[in-house]
Formats: sequence, C-alpha cells, structure tokens
Amino acid sequence: MIIEYLDIVTILILIVLAILVIKLKILDIYGCLIASFIGITVLFGIGLNGLILLFVFFFLTYILTKFRYHEKRKTGLAQSKGGTRAWTNVLANGIITSLFALSYYFLNLEILLIPFITSISIATGDTISTEIGLLSKHKPRLITTFKKVESGRSGAITFLGTISGILGICSIILFAYFLNINQNYNYLLAAGIGGIIGIIIDSYFGAAIQANYICRSCNQLTESKIHHYRYTNLKNGYAYIDNNIVNLFSIFIGACSSVFLIYLII
Ligand SMILES: [Zn+2]
Repeated sequence: MIIEYLDIVTILILIVLAILVIKLKILDIYGCLIASFIGITVLFGIGLNGLILLFVFFFLTYILTKFRYHEKRKTGLAQSKGGTRAWTNVLANGIITSLFALSYYFLNLEILLIPFITSISIATGDTISTEIGLLSKHKPRLITTFKKVESGRSGAITFLGTISGILGICSIILFAYFLNINQNYNYLLAAGIGGIIGIIIDSYFGAAIQANYICRSCNQLTESKIHHYRYTNLKNGYAYIDNNIVNLFSIFIGACSSVFLIYLII
C-alpha cells in the first residue's frame, strides 16, 4: 500500500518536473519525452535513488550549461537554441543508462549497477568538460596530436575542461555512494576509472573520426552542419559521425570497460 502510494507520488513529481523542463526550455518536447522514458526505466530498474542520480546529472549539466552562457555564446560555441538540448542529444546520452538499468532489473546482478553509474558519470563528465572548457583562457590542444587548435574543434581538450570533467565524474560516483546505489569501494573505483576512459575516448573519437565543419560566413570551426544560418563545409572526419554518435559509443565503451576493470581489480 505504502509502495503504491509512493509510486503515485513519484509519477506526479515526474510529470511536474517534465512540465518545468519544457517551460524552462531545458529540453524540447521530444527531448522531454525521451528523458521521461529514460527516467521511468531507471525508476523501474534501479529505484528512486537511481532516478535521483539521474537528476544530479540533469541539475549539474543544466547549471553549467547556463553558467556564463552569454560569454560562451559570444564566441558562437555554446549549445544552440539558448542551451536547449535536442532529443537526439538526450537519446545519445541516456539510452545506455536505460539499457543497464533494465538489464539490472531483469538479471539482478550487482555488477550491472557499475556500468549504470559509469554511463551517467561519462555523460556528466563529457558535458561539464565541454561547457567549462569553453571558458578556458588558453587555446585547446587536439587530444591526438597535442597541437594547439581553435576552440570548438571536437576532440580539443583544455586543462580546465579535463579537470572539471573528472570532478564531474567524481561527484556522480560520490552521489552513487551516498544514495546507496552501490557502496563497494572496488566497484566504485572501477566506475570512476571507466568514467575517465569514457571521456578520453569521447575526445579521441571527436578528434579522429567526428565530422568537423567550417562556417562559410565566419570561418569558425564547428561540430554543427549549420552556422550563421548557412550550411557549413566538412573539414575533417566522416559526415555521418556527429557528436551524438561519438557520445553514444564513448558512453557504451566506457561503461563496458568499468565491468572489465572489476574483473581486473578483483
Ligand atoms: Zn559562422
């Protein structure tokens, strides 16, 4: 009876949050539908604390995307549409989390909690390192060659961005611990290392294979097919590999690596 009552309250809170997310323009309507689907699978598979961990990700990345947004927009590098994330972005960042939450529900193996936590930590670390990296006073370096490149090139890393990303990963691991999702130190260590592997792979794919475009109006390097309302020219990478594909694969590989690490550590 109490559980049923709690579930109704949880669903009501989710509906209120969904309306708030659309009103605040954090996500577009399709993004909100996909986020709700991800939220429900996490609630179903991991429970309320899993959902709270997902909210920590949303809250941290929302605050840091908005943080000094106008400064980031001045250089044309901030997320387009006022920081609103599109459904493709939500799907790429959340679907792996959903899959591990569901696989935990069906298989009930403790070890599956670790790629679940890792996947959220990678999405958090990647978003934070991008958003904070944009504010770095120094020119970024390409992860593959360590040569200085223009800001906005995918696979470009800064010291500030990388440290912020790692701090983002650590905060998700800490929340996972205090929310009692998992409290095995070895497992959480594997999640943390898996998270760092994930953001490194993300940058590496960003540098090596992701499509980078050049704006025909302002010559700015961009990950986007459209800049200054015009189609951009492909400069390097493959046209069909965009930031979402890179996110999806780096989250998947990083999350799986946390499982392999557990077998290595123990
Ligand atoms: Zn432009």
